[in-house]
Amino acid sequence: MATGVNEPVCASCNSERGAFQCRGCSKVFCFQHTTNHHQSIIQELDAIEHSRNLLQSTLQQTMAESSANVKALHDELTKKIDMWEEKSVEKIRQAAADARNDLFQLTINRGIKIQSKLEDLTQQIQHARQKSNFLETDVHEWSKKLEDLKEQLTKVPLVTVCEDYTKLISKISVSGLHKSEIFGLSTGNAGFEDNGKVVYVKNGNDIYTEVRGQCEYFSGVHTIFLHVEEYAHWILFGIISKSTPLQIHSYASSSCYGWYNGVDFVYAAGVCIGGQGIDVIANDRVQLTIDCDNRLIRLVNERSGRALELAVDIEKCPFPWQLHLNLNAQPTRVRIISSGEEHKTLSC
Ligand SMILES: [Zn+2]
Ligand SMILES: [Zn+2]
Repeated sequence: MATGVNEPVCASCNSERGAFQCRGCSKVFCFQHTTNHHQSIIQELDAIEHSRNLLQSTLQQTMAESSANVKALHDELTKKIDMWEEKSVEKIRQAAADARNDLFQLTINRGIKIQSKLEDLTQQIQHARQKSNFLETDVHEWSKKLEDLKEQLTKVPLVTVCEDYTKLISKISVSGLHKSEIFGLSTGNAGFEDNGKVVYVKNGNDIYTEVRGQCEYFSGVHTIFLHVEEYAHWILFGIISKSTPLQIHSYASSSCYGWYNGVDFVYAAGVCIGGQGIDVIANDRVQLTIDCDNRLIRLVNERSGRALELAVDIEKCPFPWQLHLNLNAQPTRVRIISSGEEHKTLSC
């Protein structure tokens, strides 16, 4: 069929007159190719359905394969939560029992104690009389003791119950490990391995090196699990503001918050404020919690159980924060085992 000069031609054969326009692609087709075009769209849909079915069966297979592992993980972590619950309840029961005992001693048992003191005094006096072995000073002393006992007996005991607000029970939380932290920046004397999971000191001793992680923290609570694979001396663990420039003596950077080993080397806003440091030795695993919501960092040594906490002044260390280490000597090697944000918080 011949076409007029300005008439659109079929997009498929490029010769016949375009009879129908497709609203999907806006192209025009002749009678025959309109049918073909429709068919090709149906085929596309068929292909999509086919890959959906494939995905569905892969998903079912993967879920079936991993369900045993997921169940094992769930059961293992549930045990940990159960243990925490048991230990916490035990701590509360023990504290209450101690308090009841103290209360009993200071109230009910008080009369029995006075009674026992009076018996001691009686024996002393009787003994002295039998042996005729006493002086005037002894008589005065016994008289005073007797007066004391009388006074104790007549007074209402001064006793109260008070609450100490220091933590008796540690908080428990469940972390979903989604965002992965890796080491990414250093001032030079650090090497990275295993796609940034590992950092180590390259050359010599006493060459300070700042190392930072790649994640940026500005909200939520995040925990980074680290394994100190090799340790010579001096590792600072902490955070720093992303806005602070890197420098080798980064413990003195104005937004540095963290701990060195030992005592007296705790840094806040780049100033050594003293206090208890970390007790890391080679092969230790530590948990660094970056709590943006409560503006603090916490470090727990899994081996010793030592837990340290440092409040962060947001004026001195503005968000976003970054994982910050300062390394110094060979051999030093630290691995990020995992990291993640806490989604659910179970607190007591
Ligand atoms: Zn055509
Ligand atoms: Zn079309």
